[in-house]
Amino acid sequence: MYQEPIFLTPVFQERIWGGDKLKTLFGYSIPNDLTGEAWVISAHKNGPSMINNGSLQGQSLAQAWSEHPSLFGKETTEGDFPLLVKILDANDNLSVQVHPNDAYAQQVEGEPYGKTECWYVLDCEPDSEIIFGHRAETQEDFKRRVDAGQWDDLLMSVPVKKGDFYYVPSGTIHAIGKGIVILEIQQSSDITYRVYDYDRKDAEGNTRELHIQSAIEVTTYPHSSNAPEIEEQIVGDLVSTRLVKEQYFTVYDWKLNGRTVTPLQADYLLVSVVNGTGQIIVDGRSFPLKKGDNFMLPATVSSYEIAGDLEMMVAHE
Ligand code: ZN
Repeated sequence: MYQEPIFLTPVFQERIWGGDKLKTLFGYSIPNDLTGEAWVISAHKNGPSMINNGSLQGQSLAQAWSEHPSLFGKETTEGDFPLLVKILDANDNLSVQVHPNDAYAQQVEGEPYGKTECWYVLDCEPDSEIIFGHRAETQEDFKRRVDAGQWDDLLMSVPVKKGDFYYVPSGTIHAIGKGIVILEIQQSSDITYRVYDYDRKDAEGNTRELHIQSAIEVTTYPHSSNAPEIEEQIVGDLVSTRLVKEQYFTVYDWKLNGRTVTPLQADYLLVSVVNGTGQIIVDGRSFPLKKGDNFMLPATVSSYEIAGDLEMMVAHE
């Protein structure tokens, strides 16, 4: 039985809207100051995380998923690992975009998963905003306003602050605004349809490719947003806040000051340490934890203890 947490090394992605906060806030060795994303728990082909401890060290999470299903509480694992955890540094506005659902991703893109995602705001500058939703009643109305460039009228802006949480189902028009750092838990998909990029040009004077037709096809009309029901639970010195429990994932914010013993069991847990320091103890062995660490707690670990002054984002299927 595999009795230890599986620590993962992040994969960095350069983006024109990226910055250096993944280094300044999390201590990551980013490749340059246009680093937009750290894929911290990933089995996606476009950025697979590698395991950096234990007997699986040097393997990818994707390899562990296909070769050791018992770690994920399964007898067999068919298809791709379903989840992806990222930290994003939006040093500039991201393009206004939308993602497809599973059926569209499979039929049109030949990819296994669409993209339902959720965001926890780790840090943001004063007066930060996101775009979340649109004001069109129908697809025709949406298309008409897109063609006319009525962006301020069409797009809904929402002010955000540190600690906010957003559930973003596939089909939701959205954009993360400048100055915001988020932890994103999502289906393991890399399909994005850009609707609007603020008419920005890169150093060579080129605009970014848009995918307006696909975006119009996958957007939900009219926009609907139901804030998920939040549930709080105390386990030892841990305050566990369940932020969302939906079809593809359940996500918790864990704030610990002291110790807690096995506060949650699921087939496997994906854990990102977003603040503080401490340790996790499994089978009498202690593993240090600090802000920026990411690990999977496999199904083969039936009991564990966490101690310290820590905030963690925790997700499972
Ligand atoms: Zn998105």
